Amino acid sequence: MRRTLVAGNWKMHGSLSENESLLSAILAGMADVKADVAVCAPFPYLAQLQVRLAGSAIAWGAQNMSQHAKGAYTGEVSASMLKDFGCKYVIVGHSERRAIYGESNEIVAEKYAAAQAADLVPILCVGETLAEREAGITEAVVGHQLDAVLNRAGVASLAKAVVAYEPVWAIGTGKTASPEQAQAVHAFIRGKIRALNGAVAEGLIIQYGGSMKAANARELLGQPDIDGGLIGGAALVADEFLAICRAG
Ligand code: PEP
Repeated sequence: MRRTLVAGNWKMHGSLSENESLLSAILAGMADVKADVAVCAPFPYLAQLQVRLAGSAIAWGAQNMSQHAKGAYTGEVSASMLKDFGCKYVIVGHSERRAIYGESNEIVAEKYAAAQAADLVPILCVGETLAEREAGITEAVVGHQLDAVLNRAGVASLAKAVVAYEPVWAIGTGKTASPEQAQAVHAFIRGKIRALNGAVAEGLIIQYGGSMKAANARELLGQPDIDGGLIGGAALVADEFLAICRAG
């Protein structure tokens, strides 16, 4: 039986005091949560997470990292730096990174491999735009995104990774993929991995992301191939986030 992982992506939100309030409220409600839980914060707050969450049931991570280990990359942050602050996870290939910062499938695959080389668990985001869905090429797009990582790191690497299916049209828009739409793509992803390695496919956590909230979490998480959520907006509201965690 696969575990369920609910991870919050705070995006570029928060402050020391806001984070403190949010974390206190989430920690106070964790007693009846069975899912694995993580929060991914902006870089400057990782030290705060390390202090506040060490020894708790909540793991933490970053939202991006450099594909390079060190060197003349002004403004970048390496995987080993994230390890220094106790990160377990790092999101790679979020659609905002792909769309706004031009991260190609190949760059994302480099980041994925660099994360694993530093013993971080990459949360690999994949997903299609609305135009791609309407053109009927969702599986081709998601398949290419996965292929870049499979070519770079091999199928066995997915035993130490998480995949997040995030249809771009559902992120931050309030439009959620229906449970059937999401399940169909999750099944495609697992099937593609199963064709290469059955054991890795069965163990792979595939999260759904895209306007998941308390009101729709149970139905989404009830689908056979949906093993958790990557949560944006609702991760900033303790009661919403906890309700999603409890649904998992
Ligand atoms: C995300 O940021 O990955 C995300 C899914 O955002 P939201 O839940 O706000 O759609």
